[in-house]
Amino acid sequence: MRRKGVLILVALALFSAVMFYPAMTPQIAKGEQIERKNVILIGWDGVQRNHLFEMINRGLLGNLTSFSNNRIFNITVMDHGTDTKAGWTQILTGYKWWKTGVFNNVYWFHSIPQNYTIPERVESYFGVNQVNTGFIVGKLEHMEIQDGTGDTVNGRYTREAIYKNLPSAIDVCTNGAQGANMVGPSMLQFLENNANNHFFAFFQFSDPDTAGHFQGGENSAQYEQAIVRCDNWLGQILNKLNAINITQKTLIYLTADHGFDEGGNNHLNAPYIFFATNDMNVNRNGDQVDVAPTVYYGLGMWGENFNPALDGYPLQVTLPDGVEQERQSILADTTKPSAASIVSPTSGAYVAENVSVTFNVSDQHLSAALLLVSNTLKAEGPWIWNRSGTVKVDGSYTWNATSINEGSYTITVLAFDEHGANNSPSTTTITVYKAIPEFPTSIMLPSLLVITLLSAILLKKRHKI
Ligand SMILES: [Zn+2]
Repeated sequence: MRRKGVLILVALALFSAVMFYPAMTPQIAKGEQIERKNVILIGWDGVQRNHLFEMINRGLLGNLTSFSNNRIFNITVMDHGTDTKAGWTQILTGYKWWKTGVFNNVYWFHSIPQNYTIPERVESYFGVNQVNTGFIVGKLEHMEIQDGTGDTVNGRYTREAIYKNLPSAIDVCTNGAQGANMVGPSMLQFLENNANNHFFAFFQFSDPDTAGHFQGGENSAQYEQAIVRCDNWLGQILNKLNAINITQKTLIYLTADHGFDEGGNNHLNAPYIFFATNDMNVNRNGDQVDVAPTVYYGLGMWGENFNPALDGYPLQVTLPDGVEQERQSILADTTKPSAASIVSPTSGAYVAENVSVTFNVSDQHLSAALLLVSNTLKAEGPWIWNRSGTVKVDGSYTWNATSINEGSYTITVLAFDEHGANNSPSTTTITVYKAIPEFPTSIMLPSLLVITLLSAILLKKRHKI
């Protein structure tokens, strides 16, 4: 009997081991030894594609051309504003902006949801003790890792730091308002410390963007010097990999968050960027949403179930049928989405208790409709979507105004289309009031008249006496 029990237990153990084997040991099949590659994702903030190519042609970026074998690919930003917050968010997640809540440097509504970024996913996929992850960036404004710092202090729609979920989930997470010469040494130190570990690291240099905004613009010598500085640090990273003997097992992906307005001091419409790599499997141009899938492919994680599903495809594989055509039709749609109609409540209404807010909006490529009360996001759905032909949304939301303070409140519907790199959101705003209604003037004037008359009569009577 006892022996039988032991046998059953052994059988059960074997059965569960077989059942859960794939979940416990990702990627490596029985008897097969796949070498795990390290991945370094490098960011050069605000490098315009055309200017990069000019510099390559003049031989100014030797490290970039040599490490990538001069294979530089075109990347286009499509769905979100061409700036820092939205660019790095998409690069580090692989999601269109309405899944992360970061449309641009002004319109961001909350931190990136937990476990959406590459380093967090790498930790949970390989196991916290099996891999080391780093996020070393030099941009205090726009890439905060902690609430109440940098740009979060004055956020219009939220005060949440975009990367606030990272510090507790990954191994090294630093951000500071620093140029390459300050953040570079920390990156080399990270590599040195992880010579014998499997790792993923994101290294970000803010210098070109800073020079473009504040040191003479896109066509200045300072802008070029900043890009050369980035190239020098790329050289130091490559030297370090050689010195610790891990060049062969380390993939490098290098890209920018956005380009720069030609000859300008800003990047309001700058969707043209680049992608360079030593990963010889990369073989096509793409959209910025393809960068994270490319990194996952390099790490051996492509094909896993991502929740939610990623919006892009690795640059190592051809796009599924129809995707390129769909992308081109969105890029061709440069019309701003039409403004939403707020059906109820009416503008100027007094509100109390539960307020039924309803609206509708439509656009050829409508992608998101957000409902805000006094600039705070209340709901991004679920709405009723009708996608036959022009995309139409009917939205309704119950706003509980029972315990809000007296005063005026704005109700806003922001409508976005899929070509957000060029098309800013349309905005519809009404103002409503929470108050104990004032004594209406329609009653007030007659009442005053009556009181005056009565007083006059009384006075007259008294006078007679
Ligand atoms: Zn900038």
